[in-house]
Order: sequence, then structure tokens, then C-alpha cells
Amino acid sequence: MASARPARRKTCDDSARAAFKHDSHADADEQVSGERYFCEALALLPVATLMLDERGLMTVVNPQASRLFGYERDELVGKPVELLVHALRFDSHAPRWADPLAMPQVRGLAPLDDLCACRKDGTEFHAEIDLCAFCFDGGNVTLAFVIDKTERYELCRQRQDLAHLTRVSTMGQLASSLAHELNQPLTAILSNVQAAQRFMTADPIDLAELRDILNDIVQDDYRASEVIRRIRAVVKKGDLEVVPLDLAGVMRDVVALVHSDAIVRGTRVTLDIDTALPPVRGDRVQLQQVMLNLLLNAFDAMNEVPPVDRTVCVTLKSADKGMVLIAVRDRGHGLTADKLDKIFKPFFTSKPQGLGLGLSISRSIIDMHRGRLWAENNNDRGATFYVALPAGDATTEDKSR
Ligand code: ADP
Repeated sequence: MASARPARRKTCDDSARAAFKHDSHADADEQVSGERYFCEALALLPVATLMLDERGLMTVVNPQASRLFGYERDELVGKPVELLVHALRFDSHAPRWADPLAMPQVRGLAPLDDLCACRKDGTEFHAEIDLCAFCFDGGNVTLAFVIDKTERYELCRQRQDLAHLTRVSTMGQLASSLAHELNQPLTAILSNVQAAQRFMTADPIDLAELRDILNDIVQDDYRASEVIRRIRAVVKKGDLEVVPLDLAGVMRDVVALVHSDAIVRGTRVTLDIDTALPPVRGDRVQLQQVMLNLLLNAFDAMNEVPPVDRTVCVTLKSADKGMVLIAVRDRGHGLTADKLDKIFKPFFTSKPQGLGLGLSISRSIIDMHRGRLWAENNNDRGATFYVALPAGDATTEDKSR
């Protein structure tokens, strides 16, 4: 009776062999050494890499992948890849992937940007996975390159937090003028209500007058809630929302937000907007933050200028190559040659109370929108800050975030 052979431990080479099945004896040696080189090459890759067969079973796991997921290699070989990344599930009734994006039949690379991956200890992390499918000896195999996005994700979150912090701090500068702006409709509402109370005691009651008063109260209430809406829109904290935006509307909101501050500083703001301005794709809150920063900087730059000259001209127009151009032009002290370089660096400020973060954050926001932010001195006086953003759907910024 033949004695039962002890089960051999599956090795990287065995697994590769299974995936690289080959019938010809003549080619077997060459095949085996090819497989070994291949496995060794995978082991040398700096990226966690899994090789999967047609059913999504892991046939090769390189050391970086074992480390990343916290498993021994042998614990993974032969197991379905969905154990590590649930979204990479496959249909057990058919020898193909359930997720069409991940189908091994698809030759070439199919990147999966933000998937949830799970370690052996149950902790989860954000992963980017590139699938590379190819045919070998009549069978399909897929290489999955797994990148841990935790750090990138964390960096992005910190950048968002910092942007939020500077937004809140900018709004702090506007606090007193906004309080004043809010106070106006509230005071008007109070005096209108008192007037209405007086009218009610008259006999006969003047209903027409009463109706006018109530209309005024409604209008003032709208004014007050508009102020609050604009404040909330800027200090809002949340995930980036990239949507088609009407830049003109965004800019009008920001100009309205600084309206009372402009009055206090004796500054005039003019708005010149192209009637046929195309939409841009972007995050409203972040673009508002950029515009707000440019406007307040322009106000600051004109502090020493006689009030008659304190004007900021904002223009929005279509530009070449499918871009939309925003220009914020002031008549302030302008920028010396050395400042033109430095102002976009973090923590550069010439203001006693300045943080020096506004322009560097603004530039990174515009970069993320695949746009450009730069400054030039005007020929006569002051400086102009330009923002160029791609119009329409030209941006595909989701990856860059
Ligand atoms: P902060 O406003 O806190 O100083 P910013 O990054 O917004 O931070 O601005 C950095 C510096 O750039 C300002 O301190 C100022 O020296 C310069 N700057 C910005 N805008 C203008 C402008 N419109 N005209 C002249 N200088 C400017």
C-alpha cells in the first residue's frame, strides 16, 4: 500500500507554478527558472504585490504585502483576495471577477483609487490598487499592486484642517464688521415690530400700513439670514465637494461678505464679470477662501492710501486655452521684487498680526484645481493677483486630491 505523502508546504514558487501551468516537459526547466526569477523580482518590488488567479485567489504574495497586511505569506496563498480588500470580491459561481473594473480579462492597468483594505488585526486603511492583468499560457493572471494611502490621506486631511483654520481666522478679522452688518436688519426688525404694535392700538387699524411693515420685517429677516448663510458657507468644515460652479456667483457672495468691512475701511469694490462666463469644476468653500484672501489682502495693501484711491477692481473673464481668469487689482503699495518671490511661501507676512498662510494655502488650493495663482505689479500703482482656472469639465482633480 502506498504510504500517504506528507502535504508539502506551498511556497512562492509553487504558487507561481500553479498560475504558470505549462504542459510541455521540454520547456519545464526553463519555465521553472522563469517562474523563480519572476517571484524573486516580485519580492524585490518596493510595493506590496499580490498575484491572483482567475478566481481571485492569491497565488503569490510578496514580503511587502505580508508586512502591510500583517499575515504570514502562507496564510494568504490560496485565499481569496477579498479577504484583504473586500471590494475586490469575485463571483464564486463563475470563474471571473464580479467587479468588471477588476476583470483579469481586461489587459493593462485598471487603477482603483480609494479602497478599504483590512489587516489581519482587523484594522482598516485606505488603499490604492493597480491591477495589471495578462494572459499566460492560456490562463489569466492578475498582479495587484497595493499602495497604503494612510499617509497621503492624513496629509490631505491636515491640509484641509489648516485651510479651515485659516478660514476661521480670516472670518475673525471680519467679525466686527459682520456683527455690525447683522445688527442693522435686527435693529430694523425691532423698530418695525414696535411700530406695528403702536398701529395695532389705533382704531381703525391701518391695514395697508401694517402690511408694509410686515413686508419690511420679512425683507430684513432675509438680509440677516443671508449674512449668516455667507458666514456659515465660509467657515463650513467638511469634505471637498467638487462640483460645477458658477464663479460669478461665488465671487458675488464673497464681495457681499466683505461689503461692510469695505465700508469701514472706506474702500470701493467694483465687479466686472463676463456675461458668458463658463462654469468651472471646483470646491465652493475653498475657492471662496482664495477670493476672500485676495480681497482682504488688497484692502490691507491700501491702508495707507488716501480714501479716494482705495479701489479694488475684480474682473472675471474667459481667457485662452479654455481658462477662466480672475483678476483682483488694487491701488496699494504693490510688491517689491523680492516679495514677488516670497509671498507665496508659508509664514511670510509683512503684517504685525499676519499669519502668512493665506497665499500659500490659496496657491495649493488653486494647484489642486489644476489652475494657477500669481501676482504682478501694475504699471501705475498697486498689484494685481490673478487666478486662472480650467473651464467646464477640463479638470479631473479627484486623483490629485
Ligand atoms: P498675511 O495676510 O497673513 O500676511 P498672506 O499669505 O495672505 O498672509 O500674504 C503674505 C504677504 O503677501 C502679506 O503679508 C503682504 O506682504 C503680501 N501681499 C499679499 N497681498 C498683497 C497685495 N495685494 N499687495 C501687496 N502685498 C501683498
